[in-house]
Amino acid sequence: MELRERKPPTLTEKLSDHYKNRDFTVKKTQINTIGVTFFWGMWISLFIEGHILTFQLYGDDWIKTSVIFVLIWFSAWQSFINWMGTYLVDVSKVDDAVKEKHHPGILETPAGWYNCPNCQVDVPPRSFHCKYCNKCVLKRDHHCFFTNSCVGFYNERFFIILCISLIWCNAFASFLQVTYLNQTIPLTFLISSITLHQLHFSRCYSGT
Ligand SMILES: [Zn+2]
Ligand SMILES: [Zn+2]
Repeated sequence: MELRERKPPTLTEKLSDHYKNRDFTVKKTQINTIGVTFFWGMWISLFIEGHILTFQLYGDDWIKTSVIFVLIWFSAWQSFINWMGTYLVDVSKVDDAVKEKHHPGILETPAGWYNCPNCQVDVPPRSFHCKYCNKCVLKRDHHCFFTNSCVGFYNERFFIILCISLIWCNAFASFLQVTYLNQTIPLTFLISSITLHQLHFSRCYSGT
């Protein structure tokens, strides 16, 4: 019997195969990528926008410009350092050495502790296994997608300061944005144009 050579798939076959096997389910790692990209995209754009708006608004007043620049750099630095702190600190630190330290020489699971089926170690109370980090985290609060790490005992201080600094950064950016908008398209004009009579509105435009 003659053996026929298998033909390589054509481009059409490849495309149709790809089309049939499309998978739109969001993977665990993709959620973290989206969160971290969103955070740094916002961080960079607000940082650049802050400088542009300050020049537009207070460009002729160097004292105001300098004060706002110091505030922008301080806010950016605060959120940068605390993001890094939340991300880089090892939140797990649960291994056999922890059990040995608190219950030396005990082979079975100590009272109040439990054996994590994923990590295969006895973990202290208030530890939870994170399915994203795939490790047990002491005093786990939640898994933060914006920092791609769990928030737990070792990094919660960084996370709390990060949240506070982000509230401040957003309030500050909103202040600059609204001030700039108010200067370009006065908000009072917008409000009055909605409430005032049509005749008055058309007169404003015609200049009569
Ligand atoms: Zn675990
Ligand atoms: Zn996690």
